[in-house]
Amino acid sequence: MQGQEAAGATPTPRPEKSSAGAECCQLVQGPIIVGAGPSGLAVAATLSRHAVPFTVLERSDGIADLWTNRTYDRLRLHLPKVFCELPHARFPADFPTYPSKHDFLRYLRSYAARFGVSPLFGRTVTRARFDAAAALWRVTAVSAADGGRATEYASPWLVVATGENAEVVVPRVKGMERFDGEVLHSSAYRSGERFKGRRVLVVGCGNSGMEMCLDLCEHGAKPFMSVRSGVHVLPREMFGSSTFGIAMSLLKWLPIKVVDWLLLLVARLVLGDTEKHGLRRPKLGPLEIKNITGKSPVLDVGAWSLIKSGNIKIVPEVESFSGNGARFVDGNEMAFDAVICATGYRSNVPSWLKDGELFTEDGKAKAQQQQQPSNQWRGPNNGLYCVGFSGRGLLGAGADALRAAADIAGRWQEWVAAAPGPKISSSV
Ligand SMILES: Cc1cc2nc3c(=O)[nH]c(=O)nc-3n(C[C@H](O)[C@H](O)[C@H](O)COP(=O)(O)OP(=O)(O)OC[C@H]3O[C@@H](n4cnc5c(N)ncnc54)[C@H](O)[C@@H]3O)c2cc1C
Repeated sequence: MQGQEAAGATPTPRPEKSSAGAECCQLVQGPIIVGAGPSGLAVAATLSRHAVPFTVLERSDGIADLWTNRTYDRLRLHLPKVFCELPHARFPADFPTYPSKHDFLRYLRSYAARFGVSPLFGRTVTRARFDAAAALWRVTAVSAADGGRATEYASPWLVVATGENAEVVVPRVKGMERFDGEVLHSSAYRSGERFKGRRVLVVGCGNSGMEMCLDLCEHGAKPFMSVRSGVHVLPREMFGSSTFGIAMSLLKWLPIKVVDWLLLLVARLVLGDTEKHGLRRPKLGPLEIKNITGKSPVLDVGAWSLIKSGNIKIVPEVESFSGNGARFVDGNEMAFDAVICATGYRSNVPSWLKDGELFTEDGKAKAQQQQQPSNQWRGPNNGLYCVGFSGRGLLGAGADALRAAADIAGRWQEWVAAAPGPKISSSV
């Protein structure tokens, strides 16, 4: 399904003129979904099962831009596949427990095809505002392929599915512009192959930073990982089962602090004392931190043993860069050939959504910040929804998608029933 102009029987007032400099305006059937990543696909697929039409606007030229264009080659899902399935479709039985990114992309493509999701590609949403007089969301999208032509789409319902990882975050560090070597963000890193024999500083120690260090080592590079604050490293599996799965099961019976204590006890037995090798553990436990800040613990896939053996060196926070290296906060200086910033991503919602009800100023779901993840998917009665902002990865996105789509479907049926004249068929 994709954006078509409504057949004229939609019971919403037709927007008379476009706003925000758009050259034309289309009133679409059903909701507008911004973003064709896993969240956008999940909500579209569920709407399709409710026989509700929709329009998906996606800035890149294909689905799941993050997974297609901004991830390293060796990436596998961090969590077992049962925790990463989108609604209504299991992963194929022959997929491994931790599917590769190529497996995951295959799954997403067949998911989109199966549920008839055909996004409008190359449409970057630059503005969305609620027109209270018309009770419509007015969404402006710019098409680069069309010479930057802006089109306004209008609908009573808007689903924000642009993700928590829409824009890269690169820290400003003194002297970075003076550094003569290559500086790149982890989103541009594919493999350690071209860094063979080079000294590479990886800034950041999350799952990506750790795994890139492992990859660099395996390709004969010399990685140094700069660690600013504490980090929880956990084995990906404990007693032959996924650590995440064990934690989820324990949380059904035990308070979070007790589960954290148990996880850290087993981590200590399996990995040893991470602090001895420069990875200080934060005061709060891994699950508590995830709940409060959204920051995931590192699930080790092999980097830890290379840290212990000294093949990956831990260095402190960077104080400044020079032409050929970095100076650290402890006063030490080292030379490097390249710097990789594994410093994460941020939401881009504040740059285009002109509505402060559902999101904080930095583009996070307000309810999630207030630790009410079950409420974060719907705005206060103006047809605004968000999917994929619960801080709970693909699992959370699937749950949001089911709720948002069911809610929209109810409202869509009411609109269709109230439509004057010939009814729009809701079968699609
Ligand atoms: C390296 C890495 C590994 C991860 N591994 C896991 C994992 O194993 N399990 C897990 O649950 N989660 C994992 N995550 C988290 C992961 O990002 C999400 O689970 C998943 O991609 C979220 O899907 P999404 O659709 O919400 O966001 P995204 O995948 O980011 O998709 C958002 C889409 O919106 C589009 N978009 C953004 N802005 C605009 C705009 N203004 N106009 C139009 N389109 C726009 C983007 O191009 C993109 O296609 C990982 C993240 C990273 C970075």
